Amino acid sequence: MSEGFKPRGLIRTLILLSLYRGKRHGYGIMEDVERITGKKPSAGEVYPFLQRLEREGYVRVEKDRTGRRKVYELTDAGRLLVEDTIERMSGIIEAIVESKLTVCANCGVKIYEGGVEVEVEGRKLVFCCEYCAANYLAKRGIVEAVLRPRGAGRRHDREEHRPRA
Ligand SMILES: [Zn+2]
Repeated sequence: MSEGFKPRGLIRTLILLSLYRGKRHGYGIMEDVERITGKKPSAGEVYPFLQRLEREGYVRVEKDRTGRRKVYELTDAGRLLVEDTIERMSGIIEAIVESKLTVCANCGVKIYEGGVEVEVEGRKLVFCCEYCAANYLAKRGIVEAVLRPRGAGRRHDREEHRPRA
């Protein structure tokens, strides 16, 4: 088994996730991949990778009951590999979501959706709610500003984020 083995690419990750669900024939793995990507992977994308996983000790291969077709199953090391992969992927997805997040200019709360936009001195500011916007503007003595909704719905209740002032 090689240290730090990491599956590269979406197809390989999906192959591992398919195996994580249980024993699979090669075609079952291909179907699982197709269900997610909408495209059946080629044998060349699947079988060499499965062979490599077997060589590295992550997958065990048996013959099925017909004795003709191979069944692939993750070993304990394989399960750990998949769990590690899932963890790393969640980290990546979190970072992507995080990078799309906006923070309220008044209270600093993360805004996943909604909130209000205010044009202040040519700058666009975003707030979690109109209370935060009003609070921010009041603190700076700005009397006139146009508040626009930033999108439909608010992530949190306005009671929770009442301005501190
Ligand atoms: Zn706020």
